[in-house]
Amino acid sequence: MEAAFKDQARVLVEGGVHFLIIETMYALEEAVVVVALHSAKAQGSVPVVASMTFNKVKDGFFTMMGESLEEVVSSLDQAGADGLGANCTLGTQDMILLAEKMRKLTSKPILIQPNAGKPVLKDGITRYEQTPEEFAADAKAIRAAGVDMIGGCCGTDPNFIRELARVLE
Ligand SMILES: [Zn+2]
Repeated sequence: MEAAFKDQARVLVEGGVHFLIIETMYALEEAVVVVALHSAKAQGSVPVVASMTFNKVKDGFFTMMGESLEEVVSSLDQAGADGLGANCTLGTQDMILLAEKMRKLTSKPILIQPNAGKPVLKDGITRYEQTPEEFAADAKAIRAAGVDMIGGCCGTDPNFIRELARVLE
């Protein structure tokens, strides 16, 4: 596994990427291993951003394995992540709250990539019902929470990113 991960990172770095994103991680233990393998220290060049997937439980955020946001930020920091983030599972509203909490825990750059709302199962197909305009309406609040990089995850497409860019310009 280690060899396969290292190969992927090497090819991407040789191809000219400016940084690597390790995203949609559900378990902190796995994320820490992958981040350590890819850290700028280990591969010698580009920064690494680690992005986990969180569920909202009351007013807190936890991974599927039950690790808290606080635990995640401190462990990924120590593993050598140059930036931290959250992607998938949550929509823009929940991500505002998550970003505010994450900003208090780290001074590193933060990446947030929400889904286009909550998934709806219809005729066996999962759909996301937010429009690009609804999605981008929260972009300024996400930025104001101290976020450095904003993107989109499930249910978004280039139209969502275009609207995001327009709103934030
Ligand atoms: Zn996603």
